[in-house]
Amino acid sequence: MTEPIVSVAPGVLEGLDAWRDLPINQQPTWGNTEQLARVTSELSKLPPLVFAGEVDQLTDRLARVASGKAFLLQGGDCAETFDSATADKIRNRVKTILQMAVVLTYGASMPIVKMGRMAGQFAKPRSSDTETRDGVTLPAYRGDIVNGYDFTPESREADPNRIVRGYHTAASTLNLIRAFTQGGFADLREVHSWNKGFAENPANKRYETLAKDIDRAIKFMAAAGADFDSLKRVEFYASHEGLLMDYERPMTRIDSRTGNPYNTSAHFVWIGERTRDLDGAHIDFFSRISNPIGVKLGPSTTPDMVRRLIDILDPNRIPGRLTFITRMGAGVIRDALPPLLEAVKGTDALPVWVSDPMHGNGITTPNGYKTRRFDDVVDEVTGFFEAHRVVGTFPGGIHVELTGDDVTECLGGSEMIDEATLASRYESLCDPRLNHTQSLELAFLVAEELAVIA
Ligand code: PEP
Ligand code: MN
Repeated sequence: MTEPIVSVAPGVLEGLDAWRDLPINQQPTWGNTEQLARVTSELSKLPPLVFAGEVDQLTDRLARVASGKAFLLQGGDCAETFDSATADKIRNRVKTILQMAVVLTYGASMPIVKMGRMAGQFAKPRSSDTETRDGVTLPAYRGDIVNGYDFTPESREADPNRIVRGYHTAASTLNLIRAFTQGGFADLREVHSWNKGFAENPANKRYETLAKDIDRAIKFMAAAGADFDSLKRVEFYASHEGLLMDYERPMTRIDSRTGNPYNTSAHFVWIGERTRDLDGAHIDFFSRISNPIGVKLGPSTTPDMVRRLIDILDPNRIPGRLTFITRMGAGVIRDALPPLLEAVKGTDALPVWVSDPMHGNGITTPNGYKTRRFDDVVDEVTGFFEAHRVVGTFPGGIHVELTGDDVTECLGGSEMIDEATLASRYESLCDPRLNHTQSLELAFLVAEELAVIA
């Protein structure tokens, strides 16, 4: 992608660095700037992780979501870590997303666009630049691509070498995802095997029943002579928050087919709630790349902001280009979302609307755990569907923090995880994730909502 065959339009390359002169939030202070320069130069020469053609295909898939013909399932860790990029953990997350997708496809009879918060979700925005423990103040943990989680001065120092390690960890994660989703593991005829290895519980049982139905249907179709080539592979897209500009900029390359810039670190990137300033660096930079992009919208978002975001990020009104990911909070969504939907409805813009029911529902328990109530997550998703019903727009997807592992990070669900239980397997270094069972339960609930629409 580095040597364009077609010419690049005037100003495009300069434009990719315009963000450097704009106000910017949530970037680390790198101590060693010479090393940073070496690292970003090295990164800009490493191969792209995704191909522009795949990225365009995703835009096309999201265009179908925008027009109500498909649904987006986006999920994964709050923060991936280098240590947890293991085969087992990656497989369990992919299996969980595939299972949720099957539940949704079956329930809604609608294609599901599958996307991981995976293979690059390493940089985190923080509410404070520093963290204080027992009178000691150190830089906050900003994700494995910036510094270490251990609370020591050495570990918390921003280390540019971590950026290259982030790239290689993303590459090996994406490689395994591609192997799983293209190499037979994700074949719909394996629908039962995705459930193996997970603890038995009512959600799994419900899944088994559904898997049996699917099996029977497949056997029937096979007997009738159907061709199953399309069942062998699934499209699976990689996404992360486009936050750390010293990663996002060097990974952005000119596509030799079109002369357009693509961020080749992921198929889809989103701008977070804390970096969506209309006049800031992130909005400017991401307005210039050709990938489909998302923007998180919290409760302070006004209808005017939504209209301005559309004009800046999707001036040509490209179907599938822009996704709004709302994260309002369960108690707020029914009031906060309809005015935003109304502001766009009936205009020439058709963004994808996605619910992130996680980030507006954080609480801290008396025993000190950052957690979320499963009931609040469900309530926000229900409120999201209600708001769209009222306004007459299409609820296009869900964006959730989940893991395939049997963790105890969110309260409630059919396993009835309580405050005391949180301590037993709380593994997230950042926000609490739905575990495998809670993820499946949520998928069944969303499938019921979708079945009403379909
Ligand atoms: C996140 O997705 O982990 C995150 C920090 O979200 P938000 O930008 O919505 O706060
Ligand atoms: Mn998070």
